[in-house]
Amino acid sequence: MIYTDTRDNSVQVSFKTAVLNGMNEKTGGLYIPVEFPKFSFDFLAKNTTPSFRDISFEASKFFVDGEIPEGDLADIISDCYPFQPKVIPIDPVTYVLELFHGPTCAFKDFGARFMARMMSYFNKDEDTPLHILVATSGDTGSAVGSAFHNVPGLDVTILYPEGKISPLQEKQLSTFTGNVRALRVAGTFDDCQKLVKTAFTDTELRKKFRLSSANSINISRLLPQSFYYTYASLHVHHRCPRDSKIDNPSIIVTVPSGNFGNLTSGLIARKMGAPITGFIAATNTNRTIPDWLTTSKYEPRPSVQTYANAMDVGAPSNYERMIAMHTYEELKELLASYWLDNDGICDAIKECNTKTGYVIDPHGAIAYKAWNDVKTSAMADLLAGKENDYTKPGLSPSVPFWAKKVANKEAVGIILETAHPAKFGDIVKSQIGRDPVLPDRLEKVLSLPDRSIAMSNKYEDFKEWLENNL
Ligand SMILES: *Cc1c(COP(=O)(O)O)cnc(C)c1O
Repeated sequence: MIYTDTRDNSVQVSFKTAVLNGMNEKTGGLYIPVEFPKFSFDFLAKNTTPSFRDISFEASKFFVDGEIPEGDLADIISDCYPFQPKVIPIDPVTYVLELFHGPTCAFKDFGARFMARMMSYFNKDEDTPLHILVATSGDTGSAVGSAFHNVPGLDVTILYPEGKISPLQEKQLSTFTGNVRALRVAGTFDDCQKLVKTAFTDTELRKKFRLSSANSINISRLLPQSFYYTYASLHVHHRCPRDSKIDNPSIIVTVPSGNFGNLTSGLIARKMGAPITGFIAATNTNRTIPDWLTTSKYEPRPSVQTYANAMDVGAPSNYERMIAMHTYEELKELLASYWLDNDGICDAIKECNTKTGYVIDPHGAIAYKAWNDVKTSAMADLLAGKENDYTKPGLSPSVPFWAKKVANKEAVGIILETAHPAKFGDIVKSQIGRDPVLPDRLEKVLSLPDRSIAMSNKYEDFKEWLENNL
Protein backbone atom coordinates (compact mmCIF):
# COMPACT_ATOMS: atom_id res chain seq x y z
CA MET A 1 0.00 0.00 0.00
CA ILE A 2 1.22 3.47 -0.88
CA TYR A 3 0.55 6.41 1.41
CA THR A 4 0.20 10.03 0.41
CA ASP A 5 -0.07 13.33 2.26
CA THR A 6 -3.13 15.47 3.02
CA ARG A 7 -1.33 18.61 1.79
CA ASP A 8 0.51 17.29 -1.24
CA ASN A 9 -0.93 14.34 -3.13
CA SER A 10 2.22 13.94 -5.24
CA VAL A 11 3.86 12.48 -2.09
CA GLN A 12 4.17 8.69 -2.16
CA VAL A 13 5.67 6.79 0.77
CA SER A 14 5.65 3.24 2.14
CA PHE A 15 3.74 2.19 5.24
CA LYS A 16 7.05 1.96 7.10
CA THR A 17 7.92 5.59 6.31
CA ALA A 18 4.44 6.79 7.24
CA VAL A 19 4.58 4.91 10.54
CA LEU A 20 8.09 6.00 11.52
CA ASN A 21 7.73 9.65 10.47
CA GLY A 22 4.27 10.16 11.96
CA MET A 23 3.68 13.22 9.80
CA ASN A 24 5.34 14.71 6.75
CA GLU A 25 7.57 17.37 8.22
CA LYS A 26 8.21 18.95 4.80
CA THR A 27 4.57 19.87 4.23
CA GLY A 28 3.13 19.60 7.74
CA GLY A 29 0.55 17.22 6.23
CA LEU A 30 -0.75 13.89 7.53
CA TYR A 31 -0.37 10.54 5.81
CA ILE A 32 -3.35 8.69 4.36
CA PRO A 33 -3.58 5.62 2.09
CA VAL A 34 -3.80 6.57 -1.60
CA GLU A 35 -6.80 4.27 -1.92
CA PHE A 36 -9.10 2.33 0.36
CA PRO A 37 -9.28 -1.33 -0.57
CA LYS A 38 -12.59 -3.15 -0.23
CA PHE A 39 -13.17 -6.35 1.72
CA SER A 40 -14.23 -9.11 -0.66
CA PHE A 41 -17.92 -9.77 -1.04
CA ASP A 42 -17.38 -13.29 0.33
CA PHE A 43 -15.74 -11.96 3.46
CA LEU A 44 -18.53 -9.50 4.19
CA ALA A 45 -21.38 -11.80 3.17
CA LYS A 46 -20.58 -14.68 5.52
CA ASN A 47 -23.56 -15.86 7.55
CA THR A 48 -21.79 -15.27 10.83
CA THR A 49 -19.58 -12.35 11.74
CA PRO A 50 -15.86 -13.13 11.35
CA SER A 51 -13.94 -12.90 14.64
CA PHE A 52 -12.45 -9.57 15.63
CA ARG A 53 -8.94 -10.93 15.02
CA ASP A 54 -9.87 -12.27 11.58
CA ILE A 55 -11.22 -8.86 10.61
CA SER A 56 -8.11 -7.17 12.01
CA PHE A 57 -5.88 -9.52 10.03
CA GLU A 58 -7.83 -9.18 6.75
CA ALA A 59 -7.89 -5.39 6.97
CA SER A 60 -4.27 -4.95 7.98
CA LYS A 61 -3.10 -7.19 5.12
CA PHE A 62 -4.19 -4.37 2.80
CA PHE A 63 -2.47 -1.66 4.81
CA VAL A 64 0.93 -3.37 5.17
CA ASP A 65 0.84 -5.12 1.79
CA GLY A 66 4.34 -5.98 0.56
CA GLU A 67 6.02 -4.78 3.77
CA ILE A 68 5.17 -7.39 6.41
CA PRO A 69 4.87 -11.12 5.58
CA GLU A 70 1.50 -12.67 6.51
CA GLY A 71 3.00 -14.95 9.19
CA ASP A 72 4.60 -12.00 11.01
CA LEU A 73 1.41 -10.01 10.65
CA ALA A 74 -0.69 -12.79 12.17
CA ASP A 75 1.70 -12.88 15.17
CA ILE A 76 1.49 -9.11 15.56
CA ILE A 77 -2.32 -9.16 15.48
CA SER A 78 -2.62 -11.85 18.13
CA ASP A 79 -0.10 -10.04 20.32
CA CYS A 80 -2.05 -6.78 19.87
CA TYR A 81 -5.48 -8.10 20.72
CA PRO A 82 -5.73 -10.53 23.63
CA PHE A 83 -8.97 -8.60 24.34
CA GLN A 84 -11.80 -7.63 22.04
CA PRO A 85 -14.67 -5.18 21.62
CA LYS A 86 -18.12 -6.17 22.88
CA VAL A 87 -21.51 -5.30 21.42
CA ILE A 88 -24.22 -4.84 24.09
CA PRO A 89 -27.88 -4.23 23.12
CA ILE A 90 -29.54 -1.71 25.46
CA ASP A 91 -32.87 -1.34 23.64
CA PRO A 92 -34.30 -2.91 20.45
CA VAL A 93 -32.63 -0.34 18.17
CA THR A 94 -29.50 0.60 20.16
CA TYR A 95 -26.21 -1.22 20.67
CA VAL A 96 -23.33 -0.05 22.82
CA LEU A 97 -19.96 -0.91 21.32
CA GLU A 98 -17.73 -1.32 24.39
CA LEU A 99 -14.18 -0.39 23.50
CA PHE A 100 -12.72 -0.40 27.01
CA HIS A 101 -11.69 -4.03 27.47
CA GLY A 102 -7.99 -3.37 26.83
CA PRO A 103 -5.29 -2.80 29.49
CA THR A 104 -5.98 0.92 30.10
CA CYS A 105 -9.79 0.68 29.82
CA ALA A 106 -10.20 3.07 26.87
CA PHE A 107 -10.56 2.64 23.12
CA LYS A 108 -7.10 4.05 22.47
CA ASP A 109 -5.60 0.67 23.41
CA PHE A 110 -6.73 -0.64 20.01
CA GLY A 111 -4.69 1.92 18.10
CA ALA A 112 -1.76 2.27 20.48
CA ARG A 113 -0.95 -1.43 20.70
CA PHE A 114 -0.99 -1.84 16.93
CA MET A 115 1.17 1.24 16.47
CA ALA A 116 3.73 0.12 19.08
CA ARG A 117 4.14 -3.26 17.41
CA MET A 118 4.42 -1.74 13.94
CA MET A 119 7.07 0.73 15.11
CA SER A 120 8.97 -1.98 16.90
CA TYR A 121 8.82 -4.20 13.81
CA PHE A 122 10.10 -1.45 11.50
CA ASN A 123 12.75 -0.33 13.99
CA LYS A 124 14.25 -3.77 14.57
CA ASP A 125 17.28 -3.22 12.31
CA GLU A 126 18.21 0.23 13.69
CA ASP A 127 20.83 0.77 16.35
CA THR A 128 19.50 4.04 17.82
CA PRO A 129 16.20 4.30 19.70
CA LEU A 130 13.14 5.86 18.18
CA HIS A 131 11.84 8.67 20.44
CA ILE A 132 8.08 8.90 20.59
CA LEU A 133 6.55 12.25 21.57
CA VAL A 134 2.89 12.17 22.46
CA ALA A 135 0.52 14.93 23.55
CA THR A 136 -2.53 13.71 25.42
CA SER A 137 -5.79 15.20 26.63
CA GLY A 138 -6.29 12.16 28.85
CA ASP A 139 -6.43 8.64 27.55
CA THR A 140 -3.87 8.68 24.76
CA GLY A 141 -0.98 8.96 27.21
CA SER A 142 -1.84 5.92 29.26
CA ALA A 143 -2.73 3.82 26.21
CA VAL A 144 0.56 4.74 24.52
CA GLY A 145 2.58 4.38 27.72
CA SER A 146 1.11 0.95 28.36
CA ALA A 147 1.42 -0.17 24.74
CA PHE A 148 5.11 0.86 24.48
CA HIS A 149 6.27 0.05 27.97
CA ASN A 150 9.40 -2.16 27.83
CA VAL A 151 9.25 -2.48 24.04
CA PRO A 152 12.94 -2.57 22.98
CA GLY A 153 14.30 0.22 20.79
CA LEU A 154 11.47 2.59 21.62
CA ASP A 155 11.43 5.47 24.08
CA VAL A 156 8.32 7.49 25.02
CA THR A 157 7.76 11.03 26.34
CA ILE A 158 4.13 11.88 27.20
CA LEU A 159 2.95 15.51 27.52
CA TYR A 160 -0.30 16.24 29.36
CA PRO A 161 -2.05 19.42 30.54
CA GLU A 162 -1.55 19.73 34.29
CA GLY A 163 -4.78 19.71 36.28
CA LYS A 164 -6.93 19.02 33.24
CA ILE A 165 -7.13 15.24 33.37
CA SER A 166 -8.73 13.06 36.02
CA PRO A 167 -6.60 11.85 38.99
CA LEU A 168 -6.94 8.27 37.79
CA GLN A 169 -5.92 9.19 34.23
CA GLU A 170 -2.91 11.00 35.70
CA LYS A 171 -1.90 7.92 37.69
CA GLN A 172 -2.28 5.82 34.57
CA LEU A 173 0.29 7.80 32.64
CA SER A 174 2.68 9.17 35.25
CA THR A 175 3.68 5.97 37.03
CA PHE A 176 5.72 4.21 34.35
CA THR A 177 9.40 3.51 34.83
CA GLY A 178 12.14 2.75 32.29
CA ASN A 179 11.47 3.77 28.71
CA VAL A 180 8.24 5.73 29.38
CA ARG A 181 8.01 9.12 31.16
CA ALA A 182 5.41 11.91 31.52
CA LEU A 183 5.73 15.72 31.48
CA ARG A 184 2.93 17.70 33.14
CA VAL A 185 2.67 20.86 31.09
CA ALA A 186 1.45 24.17 32.55
CA GLY A 187 -1.10 24.78 29.79
CA THR A 188 -3.87 23.19 27.72
CA PHE A 189 -3.95 20.12 25.52
CA ASP A 190 -3.53 22.38 22.49
CA ASP A 191 -0.29 23.72 24.08
CA CYS A 192 0.94 20.14 24.49
CA GLN A 193 0.08 19.33 20.90
CA LYS A 194 1.82 22.49 19.72
CA LEU A 195 5.02 21.60 21.60
CA VAL A 196 5.06 18.20 19.91
CA LYS A 197 4.25 19.61 16.47
CA THR A 198 6.97 22.26 16.84
CA ALA A 199 9.52 19.61 17.82
CA PHE A 200 8.69 17.68 14.66
CA THR A 201 9.33 20.70 12.44
CA ASP A 202 12.57 21.58 14.29
CA THR A 203 15.25 20.37 11.89
CA GLU A 204 18.04 20.98 14.38
CA LEU A 205 16.39 18.72 16.92
CA ARG A 206 15.59 16.09 14.32
CA LYS A 207 19.25 15.90 13.37
CA LYS A 208 20.03 14.83 16.93
CA PHE A 209 17.16 12.44 17.58
CA ARG A 210 14.98 10.10 15.60
CA LEU A 211 11.52 11.38 16.51
CA SER A 212 8.09 9.99 15.91
CA SER A 213 4.59 10.80 17.06
CA ALA A 214 1.98 8.62 18.68
CA ASN A 215 -1.05 10.89 18.51
CA SER A 216 -3.89 10.06 16.21
CA ILE A 217 -1.82 11.91 13.62
CA ASN A 218 0.06 8.60 13.22
CA ILE A 219 -1.67 6.55 10.56
CA SER A 220 -0.84 3.28 12.36
CA ARG A 221 -3.09 4.35 15.22
CA LEU A 222 -5.93 5.28 12.97
CA LEU A 223 -6.11 2.25 10.69
CA PRO A 224 -6.60 -0.39 13.42
CA GLN A 225 -9.50 1.62 14.88
CA SER A 226 -11.38 0.77 11.69
CA PHE A 227 -11.34 -2.93 12.70
CA TYR A 228 -13.94 -2.56 15.45
CA TYR A 229 -16.27 -0.57 13.22
CA THR A 230 -16.23 -3.41 10.71
CA TYR A 231 -16.66 -6.00 13.43
CA ALA A 232 -19.52 -4.22 15.19
CA SER A 233 -21.42 -3.22 12.06
CA LEU A 234 -21.30 -6.79 10.67
CA HIS A 235 -22.38 -8.17 14.02
CA VAL A 236 -25.27 -5.70 14.29
CA HIS A 237 -26.16 -6.17 10.62
CA HIS A 238 -26.72 -9.88 11.30
CA ARG A 239 -28.79 -9.56 14.44
CA CYS A 240 -30.66 -6.25 14.16
CA PRO A 241 -33.55 -7.40 11.91
CA ARG A 242 -34.51 -9.82 14.71
CA ASP A 243 -33.92 -7.37 17.59
CA SER A 244 -35.60 -4.39 15.96
CA LYS A 245 -38.25 -6.10 13.79
CA ILE A 246 -37.22 -3.70 11.02
CA ASP A 247 -36.47 -5.01 7.51
CA ASN A 248 -33.00 -4.10 6.38
CA PRO A 249 -32.42 -1.17 8.75
CA SER A 250 -29.76 1.45 8.14
CA ILE A 251 -26.93 1.38 10.67
CA ILE A 252 -25.98 4.74 12.17
CA VAL A 253 -22.86 4.93 14.34
CA THR A 254 -22.54 7.68 16.95
CA VAL A 255 -18.97 8.62 17.79
CA PRO A 256 -17.95 10.72 20.81
CA SER A 257 -15.27 12.86 19.19
CA GLY A 258 -12.38 15.14 20.11
CA ASN A 259 -9.51 14.97 17.67
CA PHE A 260 -11.75 13.04 15.25
CA GLY A 261 -9.35 10.15 14.84
CA ASN A 262 -12.02 7.68 15.88
CA LEU A 263 -14.56 9.11 13.47
CA THR A 264 -12.00 9.13 10.64
CA SER A 265 -11.40 5.43 11.35
CA GLY A 266 -15.14 4.90 10.97
CA LEU A 267 -15.05 6.61 7.58
CA ILE A 268 -12.22 4.26 6.60
CA ALA A 269 -14.21 1.16 7.62
CA ARG A 270 -17.21 2.43 5.65
CA LYS A 271 -15.06 2.98 2.56
CA MET A 272 -13.79 -0.59 2.89
CA GLY A 273 -17.31 -1.95 2.80
CA ALA A 274 -18.47 -2.14 6.42
CA PRO A 275 -22.30 -1.93 6.47
CA ILE A 276 -22.52 1.55 7.99
CA THR A 277 -24.96 4.05 6.50
CA GLY A 278 -23.86 7.17 8.32
CA PHE A 279 -22.46 8.69 11.48
CA ILE A 280 -23.36 11.15 14.18
CA ALA A 281 -20.35 13.19 15.28
CA ALA A 282 -21.01 13.82 18.98
CA THR A 283 -18.98 16.44 20.82
CA ASN A 284 -18.92 18.42 24.03
CA THR A 285 -18.75 22.26 24.16
CA ASN A 286 -15.74 22.07 21.84
CA ARG A 287 -18.07 22.19 18.86
CA THR A 288 -15.71 23.17 16.05
CA ILE A 289 -16.86 20.34 13.76
CA PRO A 290 -20.64 20.63 14.42
CA ASP A 291 -20.38 24.37 13.69
CA TRP A 292 -18.41 23.68 10.54
CA LEU A 293 -21.01 21.22 9.25
CA THR A 294 -23.68 23.83 9.92
CA THR A 295 -22.05 27.04 8.70
CA SER A 296 -19.37 25.66 6.30
CA LYS A 297 -16.81 27.85 8.10
CA TYR A 298 -14.01 25.88 9.72
CA GLU A 299 -12.98 27.85 12.77
CA PRO A 300 -10.56 26.08 15.11
CA ARG A 301 -10.55 27.63 18.56
CA PRO A 302 -8.89 27.20 21.97
CA SER A 303 -10.12 24.13 23.80
CA VAL A 304 -12.62 24.41 26.65
CA GLN A 305 -12.48 22.10 29.67
CA THR A 306 -15.47 19.75 30.10
CA TYR A 307 -16.48 16.58 31.97
CA ALA A 308 -15.77 14.59 28.80
CA ASN A 309 -12.18 15.77 28.94
CA ALA A 310 -10.66 13.31 26.47
CA MET A 311 -12.66 15.26 23.89
CA ASP A 312 -11.51 18.75 24.90
CA VAL A 313 -10.06 19.64 21.52
CA GLY A 314 -10.73 22.94 19.76
CA ALA A 315 -8.57 22.31 16.68
CA PRO A 316 -9.12 18.66 15.73
CA SER A 317 -6.12 17.49 13.72
CA ASN A 318 -8.00 14.81 11.79
CA TYR A 319 -10.19 17.46 10.17
CA GLU A 320 -7.45 17.50 7.58
CA ARG A 321 -7.82 13.78 6.92
CA MET A 322 -11.59 13.93 6.76
CA ILE A 323 -11.53 16.54 4.02
CA ALA A 324 -8.78 14.66 2.19
CA MET A 325 -11.00 11.55 2.12
CA HIS A 326 -14.35 13.23 1.36
CA THR A 327 -15.50 16.59 0.03
CA TYR A 328 -17.33 18.92 2.41
CA GLU A 329 -20.59 18.14 0.59
CA GLU A 330 -20.04 14.40 1.01
CA LEU A 331 -19.32 14.81 4.70
CA LYS A 332 -22.51 16.82 5.14
CA GLU A 333 -24.40 13.91 3.55
CA LEU A 334 -22.72 11.28 5.74
CA LEU A 335 -22.55 13.00 9.11
CA ALA A 336 -25.07 14.49 11.45
CA SER A 337 -23.56 16.35 14.38
CA TYR A 338 -24.62 16.93 17.93
CA TRP A 339 -23.12 18.54 20.99
CA LEU A 340 -23.78 18.74 24.74
CA ASP A 341 -22.59 21.01 27.54
CA ASN A 342 -21.68 19.72 31.03
CA ASP A 343 -25.28 19.82 32.30
CA GLY A 344 -26.34 17.80 29.28
CA ILE A 345 -23.56 15.26 29.93
CA CYS A 346 -24.74 14.77 33.52
CA ASP A 347 -28.38 14.38 32.44
CA ALA A 348 -27.33 11.90 29.76
CA ILE A 349 -25.46 9.66 32.24
CA LYS A 350 -28.52 9.63 34.49
CA GLU A 351 -31.02 9.14 31.68
CA CYS A 352 -29.08 6.24 30.19
CA ASN A 353 -28.99 4.49 33.54
CA THR A 354 -32.65 5.13 34.36
CA LYS A 355 -33.98 4.11 30.95
CA THR A 356 -31.73 1.16 30.16
CA GLY A 357 -29.86 0.19 33.34
CA TYR A 358 -26.57 0.70 31.51
CA VAL A 359 -23.80 2.60 33.34
CA ILE A 360 -22.09 4.87 30.81
CA ASP A 361 -19.08 7.19 31.04
CA PRO A 362 -19.29 10.95 30.21
CA HIS A 363 -17.92 10.46 26.65
CA GLY A 364 -20.24 7.60 25.75
CA ALA A 365 -23.07 9.50 27.43
CA ILE A 366 -22.90 12.22 24.78
CA ALA A 367 -23.21 9.56 22.09
CA TYR A 368 -26.09 7.91 23.95
CA LYS A 369 -28.00 11.18 24.21
CA ALA A 370 -27.23 12.14 20.62
CA TRP A 371 -28.58 8.89 19.19
CA ASN A 372 -31.52 8.82 21.56
CA ASP A 373 -32.61 12.37 20.64
CA VAL A 374 -32.00 11.83 16.95
CA LYS A 375 -34.01 8.61 16.77
CA THR A 376 -36.81 9.84 19.02
CA SER A 377 -37.66 13.22 17.53
CA ALA A 378 -34.75 15.53 16.71
CA MET A 379 -34.26 14.31 13.13
CA ALA A 380 -37.99 14.28 12.37
CA ASP A 381 -38.24 17.81 13.79
CA LEU A 382 -35.33 18.96 11.70
CA LEU A 383 -36.95 17.54 8.54
CA ALA A 384 -40.19 19.28 9.50
CA GLY A 385 -38.37 22.60 9.62
CA LYS A 386 -38.19 22.83 13.41
CA GLU A 387 -34.47 23.20 13.67
CA ASN A 388 -32.32 23.63 16.72
CA ASP A 389 -30.29 26.84 17.13
CA TYR A 390 -26.80 25.47 16.49
CA THR A 391 -25.29 27.63 19.22
CA LYS A 392 -27.44 25.68 21.72
CA PRO A 393 -26.82 22.04 22.70
CA GLY A 394 -28.50 19.42 20.55
CA LEU A 395 -28.65 18.31 16.93
CA SER A 396 -27.01 20.71 14.49
CA PRO A 397 -29.31 21.85 11.66
CA SER A 398 -27.58 20.00 8.84
CA VAL A 399 -29.52 17.18 7.16
CA PRO A 400 -27.59 14.02 6.17
CA PHE A 401 -28.80 11.77 3.33
CA TRP A 402 -30.05 9.16 5.82
CA ALA A 403 -32.24 11.57 7.80
CA LYS A 404 -35.54 10.16 6.47
CA LYS A 405 -34.52 6.61 7.35
CA VAL A 406 -34.11 7.64 10.98
CA ALA A 407 -37.21 9.83 11.05
CA ASN A 408 -39.24 6.89 9.63
CA LYS A 409 -37.82 4.51 12.27
CA GLU A 410 -35.94 2.45 9.70
CA ALA A 411 -32.55 2.64 11.40
CA VAL A 412 -30.66 1.13 14.30
CA GLY A 413 -27.81 2.77 16.16
CA ILE A 414 -24.40 1.76 17.46
CA ILE A 415 -23.00 4.09 20.10
CA LEU A 416 -19.33 3.96 20.92
CA GLU A 417 -18.46 3.63 24.60
CA THR A 418 -14.88 4.85 24.50
CA ALA A 419 -13.88 4.55 28.17
CA HIS A 420 -14.82 2.46 31.19
CA PRO A 421 -17.21 4.46 33.45
CA ALA A 422 -14.94 3.83 36.48
CA LYS A 423 -12.33 6.11 34.87
CA PHE A 424 -14.75 8.97 35.57
CA GLY A 425 -16.16 7.55 38.78
CA ASP A 426 -16.97 10.88 40.52
CA ILE A 427 -19.17 12.28 37.75
CA VAL A 428 -20.85 8.95 37.13
CA LYS A 429 -21.55 8.48 40.84
CA SER A 430 -23.01 11.98 41.13
CA GLN A 431 -25.64 10.95 38.57
CA ILE A 432 -26.42 7.32 39.34
CA GLY A 433 -25.89 7.40 43.11
CA ARG A 434 -23.24 4.71 43.33
CA ASP A 435 -19.65 4.07 42.30
CA PRO A 436 -19.16 2.20 39.02
CA VAL A 437 -17.25 -1.06 39.60
CA LEU A 438 -13.50 -0.45 39.33
CA PRO A 439 -11.76 -3.09 37.16
CA ASP A 440 -8.71 -4.75 38.80
CA ARG A 441 -6.32 -3.28 36.28
CA LEU A 442 -7.37 0.25 37.31
CA GLU A 443 -7.27 -0.47 41.01
CA LYS A 444 -3.65 -1.65 40.77
CA VAL A 445 -2.33 1.56 39.24
CA LEU A 446 -3.77 3.75 42.04
CA SER A 447 -1.17 2.55 44.53
CA LEU A 448 1.87 3.35 42.32
CA PRO A 449 3.99 6.53 42.94
CA ASP A 450 3.60 9.54 40.59
CA ARG A 451 6.79 10.14 38.55
CA SER A 452 5.68 13.06 36.36
CA ILE A 453 8.05 15.96 35.58
CA ALA A 454 6.93 19.64 35.56
CA MET A 455 7.23 21.53 32.23
CA SER A 456 6.26 25.04 31.02
CA ASN A 457 4.33 25.52 27.78
CA LYS A 458 7.29 27.30 26.11
CA TYR A 459 8.98 25.48 23.26
CA GLU A 460 12.51 26.58 24.32
CA ASP A 461 12.04 24.92 27.73
CA PHE A 462 10.72 21.73 26.18
CA LYS A 463 13.54 21.60 23.66
CA GLU A 464 16.19 22.15 26.31
CA TRP A 465 14.70 19.36 28.39
CA LEU A 466 14.71 16.98 25.41
CA GLU A 467 18.32 17.83 24.57
CA ASN A 468 19.43 17.14 28.14
CA ASN A 469 17.35 14.10 28.88
CA LEU A 470 16.75 11.94 25.82
C1 LIG B 1 -9.58 10.11 22.91
C2 LIG B 1 -10.94 9.89 23.40
C3 LIG B 1 -12.06 10.32 22.67
C4 LIG B 1 -11.94 11.13 21.41
O1 LIG B 1 -11.40 10.39 20.33
P1 LIG B 1 -10.84 11.15 19.04
O2 LIG B 1 -10.29 10.10 18.19
O3 LIG B 1 -9.81 12.12 19.53
O4 LIG B 1 -12.00 11.88 18.44
C5 LIG B 1 -13.31 10.01 23.15
N1 LIG B 1 -13.46 9.33 24.31
C6 LIG B 1 -12.41 8.91 25.04
C7 LIG B 1 -12.66 8.20 26.31
C8 LIG B 1 -11.13 9.15 24.59
O5 LIG B 1 -10.10 8.73 25.32
